[in-house]
Order: sequence, then structure tokens, then C-alpha cells
Amino acid sequence: MSQTSGSRTLSFLSFVIPVYNEQATLPFLREQLETWLPTLGDVRYEIVLVDDGSSDNSFAFLTDWANNHPEIKVVSFSRNFGHQAAVTAGLAYASGEAVVILDADLQDPLSAVPDMIRRYEEGYDVVYGQRIARQGETTFKKATAWVFYRLMQKCVYKDLPKDTGDFRLVSRRVVDIVNAMPEAHRFLRGMFAWVGFRHIAVPYVRDERRFGETKYPFSKMLRFAWQAITSFSALPIRLVCFWGALVACFGFLICLYALYSWCVGDTVQGWTSLMGLIAMLGGSCILAIGIVGEYVGNIFEEVKMRPKYLVEKCLNISQPDMETKQSPHGR
Ligand code: UDP
Ligand code: MG
Repeated sequence: MSQTSGSRTLSFLSFVIPVYNEQATLPFLREQLETWLPTLGDVRYEIVLVDDGSSDNSFAFLTDWANNHPEIKVVSFSRNFGHQAAVTAGLAYASGEAVVILDADLQDPLSAVPDMIRRYEEGYDVVYGQRIARQGETTFKKATAWVFYRLMQKCVYKDLPKDTGDFRLVSRRVVDIVNAMPEAHRFLRGMFAWVGFRHIAVPYVRDERRFGETKYPFSKMLRFAWQAITSFSALPIRLVCFWGALVACFGFLICLYALYSWCVGDTVQGWTSLMGLIAMLGGSCILAIGIVGEYVGNIFEEVKMRPKYLVEKCLNISQPDMETKQSPHGR
């Protein structure tokens, strides 16, 4: 496919916003959007809010908001499927010429969107927000994010832009390609990087969350990072092979030493080293099996070919039938 160059004018923009137990944040989101959206001028817009199985009053708020506002579209899941599944659904339901992915807490500010639109109009297909600073986040979260992006870039995927979340503007052709990618384990920012085309960063300062709490506690972050690594790279499994070879070489040296000890009649001693060796080998084997198991588990999830999410209700947008539910446009 040829790359777009030159200029174009954006006429229809979709916003995709995942929502999970955000009742404290949604009034703020609505107010901010209602103040900011008129600055879009002639650009037509729609806002696709994906309720990821919230157990609070988020859906009631969204229902009220969607009432008499046809541009507010709500997709509600049958349960919590996770942030990446919610964004995946939003991308499938969005019909704009370009799509902006936003978090409901507006930590990624709307003020960066005009720059994204300008870059899109210059011909870029993916305009991602790049955090130059993060306000109000713990040193621990900043440090783990820093390590994660560097690790991902060095070992997993060199084209993965660092300090970049899902906040980005994506052209219709890239959205269509990502919608057509069937994998169950979705690490969307990796998938966007994989697709290619013209990418560019828009730097911004990530605000602090003003209402409610993060829906990404440490355990979920860790799971997300591990999913990202194992769905994009065979590096851990290769490292296991390398580790196995290293341990085998070490074991061979120990055998030589044991043989030597036997020759010189010094075989009673060595209980400690023997125990250490057994423990180390046992640990390595379990680790190796665990990592192989992780990949087998991923294959298991993929071959089941279950839907990535289940939609219970839609407001101001038609609910596709079971055949096409992952892409209401039939793509
Ligand atoms: N979210 C979601 N499903 C989940 C967890 C989070 O849809 O299982 C949404 C959440 O409502 C928010 C966005 O994903 O709009 C990012 O979550 P959050 O702000 O809690 O993450 P953080 O900014 O702390 O990394
Ligand atoms: Mg947030």
C-alpha cells in the first residue's frame, strides 16, 4: 500500500472512550467535552463510550447523556473484559474518518487533539501522544512505566514508541487493518506500531486523575506487561533455551568435578553443593515449563476463537448480529 503524503481535511472524527466504574469521573468528562467540542468547528464528530461491565452508575449516566444526543454512542459489555477489549470494541463501532482514543479520566488532555488533527491533515496515519511528564502519579508507577517501555523497545519491538499509551489519533485505513487483525490477546499500541504507515508523536503532559481511582492496580499492570511481551515476542522462550544451555554447561563442569573427586577419593563431602545444584536445576525446569506453558496458554486462547468481548446493549448505534459483532461495518 502506498503511503499518504500531502494534505487532507478532516471532516468526521470519532472519539473512543473506555469506561469502567467511572461514575465519579463521567460528569467531569461530559463537562470538559461539551466545552471543548465546539472548538472543532466544521469537523463532525461522534463519541463512542464503551462501558466495560461497570458495576456502579456509569451506565445510567451514559444512558442519560445519550438521550437526545445522537452523537453520543454507547456500547455496553456483558461483563468486564478489560481496557484493551473495550478500546477494540470502540474501534470496531467507530465510523469516523479518523479515531481518537481517550481515557475517561481525561488524564490525556483534549488540548493535544488539535495538534493530532493537524498532523493527520499533513498525511500522518497514526499520531500518538507522547508523555513528556506525568503529573500526580507515584514514583513507582512512573519508574515501572519507564522500565516497561525501554524493555519493550530494546527486547520486544524496536518500533514501539516509548512513553506512549493508547491516547492517539488513528486514520480510518489503520483502524480497518487493526479491526481485521483476529488475535485474542490485544496489545493495541504494539499492533498500531506493527501496522506501519506514517507515525508521529505529539508531546503532552499527562495530567493527574482528578476523580475516582486508577483501574490499573499493580497486579493488572504486571499482567498487562506480561501479555504485551508474550503476545509480541518469543524472547522469553529464547532466553529459557539460553538459560537451559548455560545450566547444562554448568552441570557438565560439576560432573567433571564429581569425577575428579571420586578419583582422588573425596566423595563424602559436597552435600551442600549437591543440594544447591538440585534446587537450581529444579527451579530452572519449573521456570522453563512455566514460560512454555504461558505460550501454550496463549495458543489455547487463540485457537478457541472466542469473541473478544460480548455486547449486551447499544445506545444510538445499531447492535450487530453475532456474525459481525466484532466489526459492525462487516470488515
Ligand atoms: N478501563 C476499562 N476497563 C478496565 C480498566 C480500565 O475500560 O478493566 C478504562 C478506565 O475506565 C479508563 C481507562 O481504561 O477510562 C484507563 O484506566 P485508568 O485511568 O484507571 O488507568 P491509568 O491511567 O491509571 O493507567
Ligand atoms: Mg487514568
